[in-house]
Order: sequence, then C-alpha cells, then structure tokens
Amino acid sequence: MAYVGRMYPRIPTIGIRGLPRGTATVRGLPWEAMAEPPPRKRVLVAGGGFAGLETVLALHHLAGDLVDVVLLAPDPEFVYRPLLVEAPFTRRPPERRELAPILDQLGWRFARDGLARVDAEARAVETTSGETRPYDALVVCTGARPKPAYERAVTLTESLADSDAVDELLRAAPSEGRDRIAFVVPPGVTWSLPAYELALLARARAEDLGADPEIALLTPEHKPLAIFGTMASSTVERLLAARRIEVHCGVHVVEEDDGFHVVPERTLLEARAVIALPYLEGPAVPGLPADEAGFIPIDEHARVPGAEGVYAAGDGTSFPVKQGGIATQQADAAAEHIAASAGADVEPKPFEPVLRGKLFTGSESINLRQKLTGGAGEGEASHDYLWWPPHKVAGRYLPAFLGLSTPAPSADVDPSSLLVDVNVSFPHTWHSEPGGPKRGPRYS
Ligand SMILES: Cc1cc2nc3c(=O)[nH]c(=O)nc-3n(C[C@H](O)[C@H](O)[C@H](O)COP(=O)(O)OP(=O)(O)OC[C@H]3O[C@@H](n4cnc5c(N)ncnc54)[C@H](O)[C@@H]3O)c2cc1C
Repeated sequence: MAYVGRMYPRIPTIGIRGLPRGTATVRGLPWEAMAEPPPRKRVLVAGGGFAGLETVLALHHLAGDLVDVVLLAPDPEFVYRPLLVEAPFTRRPPERRELAPILDQLGWRFARDGLARVDAEARAVETTSGETRPYDALVVCTGARPKPAYERAVTLTESLADSDAVDELLRAAPSEGRDRIAFVVPPGVTWSLPAYELALLARARAEDLGADPEIALLTPEHKPLAIFGTMASSTVERLLAARRIEVHCGVHVVEEDDGFHVVPERTLLEARAVIALPYLEGPAVPGLPADEAGFIPIDEHARVPGAEGVYAAGDGTSFPVKQGGIATQQADAAAEHIAASAGADVEPKPFEPVLRGKLFTGSESINLRQKLTGGAGEGEASHDYLWWPPHKVAGRYLPAFLGLSTPAPSADVDPSSLLVDVNVSFPHTWHSEPGGPKRGPRYS
C-alpha cells in the first residue's frame, strides 16, 4: 500500500526547498560561460532503498544536469524498513513511497527491473528482464538478503504485520510452566537495535493487553548496544532493568533437536516463544567481487576495487554494520566521487562512518550516536535530538526529502548541511513515537 497521496499531496524535493537542479558548476564555471555543455555522464543506480534514493538525491544536488540517472529496482516502492519493529504491535506495514514519481520529479527515470550481472570491462549491466544497459558509473545498492536464523523461532519479517502472532504470544498463558518470551540477536548480526526495540515494545504492548509475561533478551554483545559506546550501554541497561527485561549478554543461542540452547553454558533456553532477528547474506552480484557471504567490498569513496566506474553502498557492501544511516553515508561518498568525475566542483570526501540510532522504547525514544573510527570514546545517549532532521534513519538528503515529522525551522536549511549534529531539547511530546499515544507522521 502506498501512502504517497494521503500524506504527501505534493512530493517535496531538494530543488524546491533549496538549490534548484542545474546550479552545479563545471570546475567553477557556470554552464552559460561554456560554448558546449559537456556530455552527461550516464549513471545507473541499482536499488531503491536508503542507499539508492540517497545516491539519487545527492547526485541531483551535487551534479545537476551533468549526469543522467536511471534507477533500477524490482520493487516499485521505497520501503522504510526500520518501522518493521512496530508492525507486530500495530499491524501496520512499514511506510513506503513510489519510486517512479520521485525519479520523474527529479527529471530522471525509474526502470522496474533488476540487476542480474555486471560486465565492468564493457561498462554495461545485464538486467533480470534480459536487457543490456550501458553506464559510465554504476552504483550497486541492492541491499542484503534477510534469512531466518532458526527454524522454530519467529523471525521478524513484514508478514508479522498481517498477523496476531505476537499479540497472541503476549496474551497466552504460560506453557508447561514457561512464561518467558525470548528476543534473540543471532550470532553475526551487527545491527542489534531492533531486538531491543522489540523487547521494549513488547513490554509496552503487554501492559496495554493486561498481560505480564517474562521478557528476556539474549545477545552476543558484551554489553547492551555496545557498538554505541559505554554511555549508550549503561543508559539502555538501566532502561531494560526498569522495564523488567532480563538481559543475557555474551551468549549465542543455537537450535538443537530438543530446543534452543544458550552457549557457552549450553543450558536449555526456557521460553514459550523465541523471536529472532534474521541474519543477512550479501547480494553476490555476478561480475563483481564479493566476500564469502556475498557482500561487495568497497573503498573509502565507495568504489568497488577492480571494477572501474562501479560503486556500492548500503547493506550489500562488506562494511560490517548494516544500518540505514551508514548506507546513506556511503551513498553520499559515492555520489560526491561521481559528481567530481562528471566535472562538478565537488571535492569527494572519504566515508567516515558515524552511527546514529533512534531507539524506540514504547514511550520516549532514545537517540544514540557514536563515531566508528578514530578513538570513538564513550558515545552519546539522550532523549534530546542528537541530529537534525531527527528521523530514525539519519542522512544528508533523504530524511529532509521524505518530510519532517515535527514543525521545523530547518525547512529552509541549505541542503548541503541538511544532516546536522545537534543537541537540542524540545518539548517531550515531540519525542513521541509511532506506537505511543501521540503518533503523528511516522518517519521519526
Ligand atoms: C527491523 C529493522 C530495523 C532497523 N532499524 C534501523 C534503524 O533504526 N536505523 C537505521 O539506520 N537502520 C535500521 N535498519 C537497517 C536499515 O533498514 C538498512 O540498513 C537499510 O534498509 C539498508 O538500505 P539499503 O538501501 O542498503 O537496502 P534496502 O533498504 O534493503 O534496499 C534494497 C533495494 O534494492 C532493491 N533490489 C534488490 N535486488 C535488486 C536487484 N537485483 N537489482 C536492483 N535492485 C534490487 C530492492 O528492491 C530495494 O529497493 C533496520 C532494519 C530492520 C530490518
């Protein structure tokens, strides 16, 4: 289902809010000063998720008419996947936006098709419909493939939005004396935040339903959300304790014939239900290098080594943290490099990952921020906004494009500084979440 018409009668664009398309200059000269405009560079973006859309919006701002973009994706809609954590409790599927009108509005094209193979030497791709498409630059943003980690666990998927499964689990009477619902981060999953959100939202939902199950969270991390640093860990630890969520860190859950076991002790996991995050496999694109799990290697400008003109961004790359904010940062690095090579007056900056995460808790959300390179320190955790616009997925262009969730003075901000790190207190009602009493628009 698309919400475009209902929520966004008119799609806002970077061009409308900020710089109009075509303000890019060629090595400092406005186009009017040149006798012949340079030929446009053909850019093919494969994938219409966070990385793909951010690439397109960044190119629009940085390179304007120096490039001609086609976005290729089998799914006609952009899906705001992080909102999947609410689906089991609200039964609303994550928000989505149609891709074709977005590309149309930017003056470019959407092709409903898939990337099947890359011939980097010929600078062409083969698509799943059998077409050959030449390119000057290709950005592979085809995401990762979620797979259930366990056969007998409930895996977080979009189909949970259509079922009562989780509500029934929360309401159910203890089975054989076991009253625990266990949320599990499988080994190898680096973006664990959704498991914490599920446990916290389950507690809030159980309270709404008048139920009081035991809730446990099991994770290989040595501390809760350790990737965000010690401050985030201790903040989240206190919150989990206050919500009576039992936490087991530094453990792996393995499935055996007689049930689930907690390693290293190998104790049986006493639970009436196990709800797990999926693990991710890479897209393994024929013609491109890949690691053993199918993820595409990239350098600090998001270039794929050994494949001239090919870039990759997002969950499909071998960068260890699979997260939407990281995907947008890689997309920006790729777009800057492409814009510069198309002749735009842009200095491509290397990708320097900063993790920004908004933890849904069932009441006030918690914003977390941590640099992933260069002596990251203890990180930050706050109920106040730590970046602006304060969307769940942070990004330089995409959140502003999708629309702000709160009345915002930033509507006129220059798009080049759209993602700003801030530390601002706003009235607490502004932190309200989807799932909370004041729901509001849903990208926050
Ligand atoms: C439950 C959950 C909660 C999350 N919470 C957060 C959060 O709070 N914050 C955060 O930053 N991130 C979060 N994430 C992670 C975030 O959703 C992903 O990191 C992000 O979606 C990755 O973006 P992407 O563009 O790489 O891939 P995707 O969003 O998966 O998009 C992939 C795109 O590629 C297209 N595609 C697939 N195959 C092909 C092909 N062969 N050819 C062309 N196109 C193809 C698909 O149709 C899709 O358009 C969460 C994820 C989940 C599942």
